[in-house]
Amino acid sequence: MYKPDTIAAQALGWIEPTTRAIVPPIHTATTFERDPDNQYRSGRVYVRADNPAFDQAEQVVTALEHGTETLLFASGMAAATAVFQALAPGDHVVAPKVMYWALRSWLAGYAAEWGLKVDFVDADNVDAVRRAVRPGETKLVWLETPANPLWCISDIAAAADIAHRAGARLAVDSTVATPILTRPLTLGADIVMHAATKYLNGHSDVCAGTLTVARLDGYWQRVKAVRKGNGAILGSFEAWLLLRGLRTLPLRVRAASAAAMRIAAHFRGHRRIADVLYPGLTNFPGHEVAARQMAGGFGGMMSIRVAGGAAAAIATAAQLKIWKRATSLGGVESLVEHRASIEGPGTPAPGDLLRLSVGIEDAGDLIEDLELALAGAGAGD
Ligand SMILES: *Cc1c(COP(=O)(O)O)cnc(C)c1O
Repeated sequence: MYKPDTIAAQALGWIEPTTRAIVPPIHTATTFERDPDNQYRSGRVYVRADNPAFDQAEQVVTALEHGTETLLFASGMAAATAVFQALAPGDHVVAPKVMYWALRSWLAGYAAEWGLKVDFVDADNVDAVRRAVRPGETKLVWLETPANPLWCISDIAAAADIAHRAGARLAVDSTVATPILTRPLTLGADIVMHAATKYLNGHSDVCAGTLTVARLDGYWQRVKAVRKGNGAILGSFEAWLLLRGLRTLPLRVRAASAAAMRIAAHFRGHRRIADVLYPGLTNFPGHEVAARQMAGGFGGMMSIRVAGGAAAAIATAAQLKIWKRATSLGGVESLVEHRASIEGPGTPAPGDLLRLSVGIEDAGDLIEDLELALAGAGAGD
């Protein structure tokens, strides 16, 4: 198998057979011709199940994740919720207390009403995961690592072992790590999910999600049926843009990770900063596990706790010029967000926390912008 840089740059080297174009066309057809003898030998019937515009992006993600098959979805949430909707009402699932906020809300609300029994645990603690899993009853363990917005690290290999002994599957939201830094399927996970809206696309202009599976089985058939039945499919233009974004994924992830490491090291112990949350820092609680299961960097996501509390944090964000105040992450441009404001009551994000999505700008410029904003806001004075 080729290295990730080669897979991504050439999108697996695919050439369009009729024109020899090295970039794929954008297929927009919603339907496909039936053979005269009433068969569908092309294998494609109708776009909701069989869009050829998805083929390459799905195959590139499969190759990067060392998986067997990938499905594109209309969003990260559509991909993640399909994992749970392919279970049955009454099934027990284990999910992290600290995780992507909208999915946690969906699990606590819609999924619970639909009949899933959901237990939220401190997923950075292997013993807590072990205690929560009920052999024979638990059907799925969900992890997110590093996890929004505190970047808690979960041990994928240990959780896979616990889940499998209990007869459950392990699914990992690997949006923040990306397949460049972590490949959960090679560590024992059964499914890996990405909000492709973030790093996979990387340019803040496509909303998409992916699921990649380790092996094909009846459960995966149900996931496919959920996508087809619920119809949460991506458009052809978005699939094409996603493929274009994927070609530079390794470069973007390495640049963002290197810049994040520099920024974290700069602000650690800084008088205007109460704490820096970044898995690359050796004093970070999950650092050892992160060092074991992330290769080539610790990602572009971090949080800072601003000295002076929530008001100082919001005032700092207000003064930033390069960092844009916006939600989302994983784009080429750096973003800052006061998470407690967007998550509301029940958030694990302290009021003084600013989430930073480090882009690929010059790290020195990003540090200077933060320094000026912290000083302008009088943080820690
Ligand atoms: C953004 C995000 C999601 C949801 O993806 P959407 O494309 O916004 O639906 C899920 N998990 C993580 C970690 C995310 O950052």
